[in-house]
Amino acid sequence: MDYPAKISRQVAAVPRSGIRDFFDLVQGRDEVISLGVGEPDYSTPWHIREAAIYSLERGHTSYTSNLGLMSLRRRIADYVGGFFGVQYDPSCEVLVTVGVSEALDLALRALINPGHEVVYHEPCYVSYMPGTVMAHGVPVPVATRKRDDFSLKPEALADVLTPSSRVLILNFPTNPTGGIASEEDLAGIAKLCVEHDLIVISDEIYSELRYDDQAHVSIASLPGMRERTILLHGFSKAFAMTGFRLGYACAPAPLIDAMMKIHQYSMLCAPVTSQAAALEALENGAASMERMRESYHERRDFVVRRLNEIGMDCHSPGGAFYVFPDVRSFGLSSGEFAKGLLEAENVAAVPGDAFGASGEGFLRCCYATAFDQLKEALARIERYVETLESS
Ligand code: PMP
Repeated sequence: MDYPAKISRQVAAVPRSGIRDFFDLVQGRDEVISLGVGEPDYSTPWHIREAAIYSLERGHTSYTSNLGLMSLRRRIADYVGGFFGVQYDPSCEVLVTVGVSEALDLALRALINPGHEVVYHEPCYVSYMPGTVMAHGVPVPVATRKRDDFSLKPEALADVLTPSSRVLILNFPTNPTGGIASEEDLAGIAKLCVEHDLIVISDEIYSELRYDDQAHVSIASLPGMRERTILLHGFSKAFAMTGFRLGYACAPAPLIDAMMKIHQYSMLCAPVTSQAAALEALENGAASMERMRESYHERRDFVVRRLNEIGMDCHSPGGAFYVFPDVRSFGLSSGEFAKGLLEAENVAAVPGDAFGASGEGFLRCCYATAFDQLKEALARIERYVETLESS
């Protein structure tokens, strides 16, 4: 059988995730400290796990409404109204999904016709390019820069917009850089979106994980933007619930309707047990979330300080749980640096080019790792860097 000929062009065109490639190298090595995987080191807070168990004990094991449990959608609308300052009608403007991953896929497939351009800032989360290609769109990355703290500058966005631009994906705070956008930049971006009639898919999965006493601002809350924004959020990061696979989209009803069509035929509904857990997270999870956030904040300060002491130039990111140090001064590509670090010192961090070509020269380190592990990882990185400098 000629299997390659049987695979759709769209799927064949998409490369495997560079993160997975790198982790194939990590497999089978003992004593590796991983700063690689982008997920919290915490288990889901116990009261949330208990809510899932209790839901099972009561025999809640059936499908829910395609949109998700009404009680959960009401809570989500309350939460989003309070936290992002944008009001959505839980009966028709909120869709509960299998993680932000599914919501992103639904949004892209609902919006794009072949040839439509999807613009996103890069380095970026690994699924934006493949998600666009698999939805028959044309990916248009806009490079962000260290000197701008990896924020998207309106001027850079304006440069790439064409009559074929349909969708802008934003992700602040950003995976992999931890970058955030100032309100001024967001306002400039919003103006361009209105002028060019773009729909914004705003992936705000890290929005609670903000540091330095800065409040998160969603582009959906800016004038004229609610009507053209699909706000994506979920429970994986702030509530340490990656394995529950629960997220949601909030948008005007016609956009949710279109996403819902795909969701109802491909997924039917998100798992009911996870929905019960999510309800508990929103009702009673604020304190545990804040404890985790404070601990990430401490770890960020420690890691940024140590990396700069070691001579790895690293900006202090305003959010998420990643740092993105610059390794260009060592005369190695980011892939060579990461591979060398793994081989010499058993520390895994992801080469920046896994997040798009503009990530080359950087390394993504996730600091959602236990403090003693972080300390040890930094000591090992220091040793590795010393060998590079003396060679
Ligand atoms: N968006 C970004 C920016 C992410 O970093 C991730 C997870 N790493 C996701 C979406 C997917 O999250 P979920 O677990 O909700 O599918």
